[in-house]
Amino acid sequence: MSATIPSHHHDTIVVGAGIAGLTAARLLARAGQRVVILEARDRIGGRVHTQRTADTVTDLGASWIHGIDDAPLYAVTQAFGMRTVEFTVGSYQPDGRPIAYYDPDGRRLTDAQTAEFAADIHLVDGLLTEFVSTIGPGTSYGTAVDHVLAQCDWPDERCARVREYLRHRTEEQYGVWIDDLDAHGLDDDETVGEEVVFPDGYDRLASHLGDGLTVQLDHVVSRVDWNRSGVTVESSRGVFTADRVVVTVPVGILKSGALSFHPPLPEPVSGALSRLEMNAFEKVFLRFPARFWDDDVYAIRRQGKAGQWWHSWYDLTALHGQPTLLTFAAGPCAREVIDWSDEDVAASVLAALREIYGHRVPEPTQIDVTHWQRDPFALGSYAYMTVGSTTADHDVLATPIDGVVHLAGEATWTDDPATVTAALLSGRRATENILGRDAAISQLWE
Ligand SMILES: Cc1cc2nc3c(=O)[nH]c(=O)nc-3n(C[C@H](O)[C@H](O)[C@H](O)COP(=O)(O)OP(=O)(O)OC[C@H]3O[C@@H](n4cnc5c(N)ncnc54)[C@H](O)[C@@H]3O)c2cc1C
Repeated sequence: MSATIPSHHHDTIVVGAGIAGLTAARLLARAGQRVVILEARDRIGGRVHTQRTADTVTDLGASWIHGIDDAPLYAVTQAFGMRTVEFTVGSYQPDGRPIAYYDPDGRRLTDAQTAEFAADIHLVDGLLTEFVSTIGPGTSYGTAVDHVLAQCDWPDERCARVREYLRHRTEEQYGVWIDDLDAHGLDDDETVGEEVVFPDGYDRLASHLGDGLTVQLDHVVSRVDWNRSGVTVESSRGVFTADRVVVTVPVGILKSGALSFHPPLPEPVSGALSRLEMNAFEKVFLRFPARFWDDDVYAIRRQGKAGQWWHSWYDLTALHGQPTLLTFAAGPCAREVIDWSDEDVAASVLAALREIYGHRVPEPTQIDVTHWQRDPFALGSYAYMTVGSTTADHDVLATPIDGVVHLAGEATWTDDPATVTAALLSGRRATENILGRDAAISQLWE
């Protein structure tokens, strides 16, 4: 072990200054513990990351709170005074807010056609929920969809549109091909209340949570040695010791071996980890000099082959005050474009938009493409359930190990994994497991 600075003993070391790590550290510090956060990057926030230019604010990681009713995360953001803008349909809903659908030939669906299509989705969704509740792990989402559609006895074209929609949903919600996701992989996919986004940037949440905490940036942790009496944590800038550690790095980092545990993580934690995988999901923002799409729609969706990769665009104009569309490279598309230049990705997206709107689509004034798959401290956007995993695997991942090693982070929260909510609440749970008592969320701001 190389110690470039003297080691310091702490009550708790937190690895990672994303929302899970910041939440745990803040609550532990409030309880009087000596806590240090070791963070590999030169900034806090992790997968909550806002890019600012002179006149644009762009959330390259998380954007949405997917449902604000009775949502602890919403309460936190409100207590911190963060402004929000309503933007429902961020969870790939077929309706609920106006969406402009274009059929495989590029024709806009009428309101009646849109309502019929949305009714098909709702019907199949209901049947799917029913069917999936009767099966254990080991069936893919794609197989479950086929099973349900076979019962519908619809013409091929009608089935094809619904199947395609559900495929795109698994890609957009979990960044994975429909046959690689367990049928239970979307069990949590429910939004309660409106969805909101943050015009001033989601990273304000990280700044507020991190305020006053001891965070060591540029400290890449590579090794955690643990036994019943404590931990030794080796980082690129020295060795730290503590009574315990809360590790919040993404699943991809844990699986890559870039951060290793000695002795290795035991069952049931290791088994749960083996069944979760990091996904492929990137954002593409296009800002335009003028709007060319329909007024008053939240999203544009394209059906059929032309929409195989680029099928959904979200109108962020209200958020940015500048005509802006957001689309996603997700699942196979994201894997395919991983090494493309931003310009090539944008050209591919623009070609798809021109299939619908023709020469009315101008050249964009600004292009932003994310690269979470290549990010060495993320290795993807969030975790998904491989075929054979169970929803419980998320919570199991956070099973305290000898009261000394605690895992937290988005992948460790069964109720609503892959979200900022999951990160926040898993950070609180780690604190509660350490303190052996409840830790009120309100302590984050009081
Ligand atoms: C493109 C994208 C869109 C998303 N959209 C939404 C959304 O709209 N709504 C939503 O709720 N969620 C969304 N999410 C998910 C959400 O961002 C995450 O679930 C959440 O931010 C994860 O927080 P975390 O604390 O668990 O992990 P992270 O934020 O990843 O924090 C872990 C920290 O550990 C650090 N780290 C990694 N390796 C090491 C190491 N070896 N040593 C030290 N530190 C290390 C990382 O740098 C990071 O800061 C999105 C994510 C992405 C990427």
